[in-house]
Amino acid sequence: MTIGEKYSKIREDVPEHVTIVAAVKTRTANEVAQVIDAGVTDIGENYVQEAETLHNELGDAAKSIQWHMIGHLQTNKINKALELFNVIQTIDSLKKADAVNRRAAERGKVVPVYIEVNIGSELTKSGFSPEYVLIEDLINEMAGMEFLRVKGLMTMGPVTGDPEEIRPYFRKTRQIFDRLCTLHLPHIDMKTLSMGMSHSYKVAIEEGSTMVRLGTVLFGTRIYQ
Ligand SMILES: *Cc1c(COP(=O)(O)O)cnc(C)c1O
Repeated sequence: MTIGEKYSKIREDVPEHVTIVAAVKTRTANEVAQVIDAGVTDIGENYVQEAETLHNELGDAAKSIQWHMIGHLQTNKINKALELFNVIQTIDSLKKADAVNRRAAERGKVVPVYIEVNIGSELTKSGFSPEYVLIEDLINEMAGMEFLRVKGLMTMGPVTGDPEEIRPYFRKTRQIFDRLCTLHLPHIDMKTLSMGMSHSYKVAIEEGSTMVRLGTVLFGTRIYQ
């Protein structure tokens, strides 16, 4: 199957209310163009530099889609990221939220952001601590940040061979998300629960994900150089 055919098949199987983000780290502009031609509307990229190269190589095709920052965002790359991305999914601390808000204010541009939750409390992963009260505190602070719109939660979940082992973590993220959805605060508009990757997206959707981020199932195994 071609990349486009793989996307079309997965799109048919995934419920309509679930957004598919094509996770394109390490992929060529040609590969990314193929998923865009097949109908992908959202692209996720981990690296600011790669996103810039893709924007340049894809030209007009890059402008027709939503770009999501899904990698760890370094403070010194925030300005560039705000040029290239429509959504920042990886707000992992109050400090990061504040830094993005300040840069967005300088540009006079409101930025949609998601809070990244480290649902497995893994030392090797970034993301906010998965305790509801702490996340609510963070959101209360972010409600005062005029140039951010908090629109979702994002999680990676622990990497295991068996997606069933990730199910409880997805469920816990969903529970946090549902509680946050009941808050009524300025600048907070919780809509999207971004969880599920190639090996886990089916389980994630069963647990209430509204956005899956897919790389390997679309493009094949990644080769890092
Ligand atoms: C790479 C990546 C994905 C996609 O991973 P696959 O297993 O290739 O589907 C999704 N989300 C994030 C944050 C990633 O870094």
